[in-house]
Amino acid sequence: MTQTRKLNVAIVGAGMSGICMAVKLQDADIDDFVIYESADDVGGTWRDNTYPGLSCDVPSRFYSYSFRPNPHWSRFMSPGSEIHRYFRQVADERGVTPHIRFGAEVTSARFEDGRWWVGTSEGEEAFDVLITATGVLRVPRYPEIDGLDTFAGPTFHSARWDHSISLHNKQIGLIGTGSTGVQITAELGGKVRGLTIFQRSPQWVYPTPNLRYRALTKAALARWPVLNNLGYRFWQTYIENTLGRAAVEAGLNRRLMALLCRLNLRLSVRDPAMRRKLTPNYHAMCKRLILAGHYYRSIQKPGVHLVTEAIDHVEPRGVVTSDGVLHELDLLVLATGFDARAYVRPMGIVNDNGVTLDDVWEDGPHAYRSIAVPGFPNLFMLMGPHSPIGNQSLVLIAENQADYAMWWINKIRNGDIIAASPTDTATKDYNEQMKSALRQTIWMTGCKSWYLGKDGLPELFPWRPARHRELLATPDISHFDVRTA
Ligand code: NAP
Repeated sequence: MTQTRKLNVAIVGAGMSGICMAVKLQDADIDDFVIYESADDVGGTWRDNTYPGLSCDVPSRFYSYSFRPNPHWSRFMSPGSEIHRYFRQVADERGVTPHIRFGAEVTSARFEDGRWWVGTSEGEEAFDVLITATGVLRVPRYPEIDGLDTFAGPTFHSARWDHSISLHNKQIGLIGTGSTGVQITAELGGKVRGLTIFQRSPQWVYPTPNLRYRALTKAALARWPVLNNLGYRFWQTYIENTLGRAAVEAGLNRRLMALLCRLNLRLSVRDPAMRRKLTPNYHAMCKRLILAGHYYRSIQKPGVHLVTEAIDHVEPRGVVTSDGVLHELDLLVLATGFDARAYVRPMGIVNDNGVTLDDVWEDGPHAYRSIAVPGFPNLFMLMGPHSPIGNQSLVLIAENQADYAMWWINKIRNGDIIAASPTDTATKDYNEQMKSALRQTIWMTGCKSWYLGKDGLPELFPWRPARHRELLATPDISHFDVRTA
């Protein structure tokens, strides 16, 4: 007969994944858990990013927890503030919020005597299981540009938007044309005195109008939840079978996506010189594909200048490009992306042999099925290395990973095991298979992107999203070193 034992769980991070994990624990009647959150609010990326034009580029109907549909989304792809409110609301209504220690930054976690000792400035506490839910794109990346710190006006990263600075009557400089830079351009183009966009590489843009939901539609979705679920399944199927498939399999799908991007550019930008500037020299989807409705329209508005000469340096009055031109600016926004290899770090994680996660990841972050690391028992990472991120809903991925962690947590609770970590062999085999499959993906077709790791391979999942789900739905205990009582 299985015995149920009491166990406690530490979750690091109260963003979308951390809240999801907490809900799963509660659903399993595990109430002894703490969520450590360094900030003073939930929401992770949706709390930190507040730049003008921020929205999700995954349809909101699908970018929701499957267990908490939201009939009230205002748009097909809702604004960031609304998404932030949704996560806060779920945390409140599911009773997760009282478990959160706000302002508690976890600096260390060490496995000793069969437990994880989680360290903050207040000291250490012991837990049976450690879940990291620290997000992927959390640490802003600042560009190395000569003289950047000499600029006389305000300068900030897109993920640290300074709302105390009025944009009115400003000549704004924007460095970066990734998903963030595109959304900022789409919002500010034509609305501010001047917007100078410094583009190092052009982007392919997949045409995606962002329609508003009518009151009647919202009422119908609220009245008949089945419609919401149908919408969720529809967009899941669509995204996984178009974007999810085209990235990892050559064929008609991929060609169609590329054609639509090309047509979008051709039909939206009539001026051939401008079109040339905006035409990438790499395949659509090699970098993360941009899904946007009116980027091209905004970039052609009066007052918007697209600069394609390389940045040489910054001086107090503005940015000087390699052709010697000084672009005078009042404000400089750095939409230059994130350190995608930080994962749980700088938190120092060390196992009972004194090995740190930094040691294990010396040649780049890797994991078993994106979630566990050999030699680190009872540690589960949500959005760990090689998760199927990219143009997918990270919410569903977090749910699948949390379910997988719950499978092991239940085994510990039932007394079947006391600790488990994947074997070196299983992890190595998995990573070898992945590396070989990664070479066939669109991400390896000759562009530079934040996807690419130290070894030149993309840190993404090389198969269809459904495969990741299957892998997590079928835990294989023979792939684990298991300790029993
Ligand atoms: P990003 O995709 O990494 O783009 C950074 C941009 O900055 C690129 O255009 C890059 O040029 C440019 N850049 C970097 N250093 C530079 C330098 N020294 N000089 C000139 N240009 C420089 O970052 P992001 O736009 O913040 O997006 C990151 C990811 O966040 C996205 O891919 C996506 O996964 C996520 N995101 C999602 C949404 C959403 O709606 N769901 C919205 C925003 C962001 P190169 O291309 O030449 O490197």
